[in-house]
Amino acid sequence: MSTPLFELRNLTKVYGGGLLSSRSQRALDDFSLTFLEETPKIITIAGESGSGKSTLANLALDFIHPTEGQILYKGKDLAKMSRRERFTFRREVQAIFQDPFGTYNPFYKVDAVFDTVIGKFKLTHSKAEATKQIHEALEVVGLRPNEILGKYPHQLSGGQRQRIMAARAFLLKPRIIVADEPVSMIDASLQVRILDIFRNLKESYGISFLYITHDLSTAYQISDEIYVLYSGSVMENGNVDHVIQNPQHPYTQLLVSSIPVPDPEIRWVSRSTSSAAEIAERPAGNGCKFYQRCPHAMDRCASTTPPAYQVAANQFAACYLYVDGDAKRTAPAHP
Ligand code: ADP
Ligand code: MG
Repeated sequence: MSTPLFELRNLTKVYGGGLLSSRSQRALDDFSLTFLEETPKIITIAGESGSGKSTLANLALDFIHPTEGQILYKGKDLAKMSRRERFTFRREVQAIFQDPFGTYNPFYKVDAVFDTVIGKFKLTHSKAEATKQIHEALEVVGLRPNEILGKYPHQLSGGQRQRIMAARAFLLKPRIIVADEPVSMIDASLQVRILDIFRNLKESYGISFLYITHDLSTAYQISDEIYVLYSGSVMENGNVDHVIQNPQHPYTQLLVSSIPVPDPEIRWVSRSTSSAAEIAERPAGNGCKFYQRCPHAMDRCASTTPPAYQVAANQFAACYLYVDGDAKRTAPAHP
C-alpha cells in the first residue's frame, strides 16, 4: 500500500494582481508532487534563480498560500486543518534555509535555538530530558555538544550553524524537511558532509527531504528524484539517475551540459539544431516557457504548452519532441 504523506496538487502561485492581470507574476505553474508514507525520499527541485523554487518551498511550509491548487498533509487540506492538525503539521514539516546566520539571534547563545523549540512544541518539561535530547540531536548531525553549546552564533562556522539547524529540525522528529538551498553558502568542501547528514537522516530515521538547489551535482549526489523547474513550470522529472545521466528535455540537456565538473558517468549528446541568431529573434509565445531558448523549438511550442510525456520507466519530459514514438502521455499524478 502506498499512502500519501504529503501531496502538492496542481499548485499555482501568482504574485501581484489577479490571475489575468498583466502586472502579475506567475511564479509557479501547476506543480504536483507526492511523498509517500512508506518510502522516505529525497526529492530535488532544481532550477536557476527566479524559477520558482523558494515559492514552492514557502507554499510547502504553509508560509504563503497557493493561488490555485491544494496541499494535503496526511490526507488533510492545509487550508482546512484544525488547530491540532496544524500544530502537528508545523512540527512534522520542518525547514532549513540557505542562510543559517539569518535564523539566529546574534545576542543569544545557540542553545536558545533548542530551548525555543522544546518550549514551543512542549517536547519535555524536564531540564535533564531536554539536555539529553539536545545532545542526541547534535550527535546525530556529527557535532560535539561541548563544542557547540554555550557558544554565540558568530563563534561557529557556517557549516556548524547549518548542522545545528539540522539538529534543531531532528529534535522535532519531523517526517519531512524542506531545505531551500541549504548548502549554497557553505564551502564546497563542507557541502558534502552536510548532504551526507541529510542522507543519513533519511536512511536511519525515515525523514524525507524536499531539497532545493540550483546545483545539479549536489542533486545527483543525494536525491532519489528530481523536478527541473524553468520559469515556474516543470520541464522534466523522474528518477535522478535517469534525468541527469540521460536528460530528455532540451532545457535539462542544457543544464547537464553546463555542470562544471563533468561526471564521467554522465553522457550528454548535443542535439542542437537552431543557430544562436535564430533563437535570439524568436518571439515569446504562450506555449512552452523554454520556447525562446530552445534549440529544437517547433511552431506548436509557441502556442500550446506541452504536457508531460513519459520518456522512460520513471522519467517525464514536458516537450513535444516526445509526442510520438514510444513516449506516451503521463498518467495524472493523482489518481
Ligand atoms: P527562486 O527561489 O527559484 O530563485 P522565487 O520563487 O524566489 O525563485 O521567485 C520566482 C519568481 O517570483 C521570480 O520572478 C520572483 O521575482 C517572483 N517573486 C518571488 N517572490 C515574490 C513576491 N513576494 N512578490 C512578487 N514577486 C515575487
Ligand atoms: Mg530561492
